[in-house]
Amino acid sequence: NAFAALGLAPELVQAVTDLGYTQPTQVQSKAIPLAMGLDGQSDRFIDLMVSSQTGSGKTAAFLLPVLHTLLRQQAEAAAEAQAEYDRAVAEATARGEPAPKRARRKDPTNPRNFQAAVPGALILCPTRELAQQVAHDAIDLVRHCRGLRVANVVGGIPYQMQIARLQNANLVVATPGRLLDLQRSMQIKLDQVQFLVVDEADRMLDLGFSDDLAEINQLTSQRKQTMMFSATFAPRIQQLAMRVMHDGGAAVQ
Ligand code: AMP
Repeated sequence: NAFAALGLAPELVQAVTDLGYTQPTQVQSKAIPLAMGLDGQSDRFIDLMVSSQTGSGKTAAFLLPVLHTLLRQQAEAAAEAQAEYDRAVAEATARGEPAPKRARRKDPTNPRNFQAAVPGALILCPTRELAQQVAHDAIDLVRHCRGLRVANVVGGIPYQMQIARLQNANLVVATPGRLLDLQRSMQIKLDQVQFLVVDEADRMLDLGFSDDLAEINQLTSQRKQTMMFSATFAPRIQQLAMRVMHDGGAAVQ
């Protein structure tokens, strides 16, 4: 499969195969390897400014590399936790004690266990419809990824429903206004966001989200990578790119 050749995790290759994708589109074959880091393994990521039209396959071009890295980080964390547990068992055995119990996961549906969501990746979309479409695509792509959860944050949906979904979400797809509402009411924390994607940046500016973007830029200032997708590279888009990305981002046309 041509997606495997891009270096994507087998779980994601399986998902695109299920969707019937056989060849990456042009924007996918350009953006995915760049977005994953040059060797696909390092923790250094470059920022990207991608010119893309609707219908080009741009959504998978940003979702796949982000999900790939979240998946790899999760596998590393799980291996580390397992090794730590194995060490604890070995030490207990050497002391002639019974093996320690594994920590139990708290029931997230119990309100007493409420925790603010701390997503590792954030996708910003200009409209509710687009955010729902992107979240839908993301859910299709994580089908084979155990432990990766997607949440959608948009206006016009009851808060309680969104908040229940939001806990434990690794990837959040949001419109800026509702995201900032939830951040201000401390339902979501943005300081663990490593990957920020701004989809349809030109429409984002047309719809007056410039101040919201500036605020989200500040709130996620510790992030490792930013990708901007836009139909045009108009000067105001380049100005936004200069504000939110290292060197304005590497251009992908
Ligand atoms: P987008 O530009 O992200 O809105 O994608 C446009 C459409 O193309 C969506 O329906 C995707 O499911 C589909 N698509 C994305 N990538 C591929 C691919 N590599 N092969 C076939 N269809 C694709």
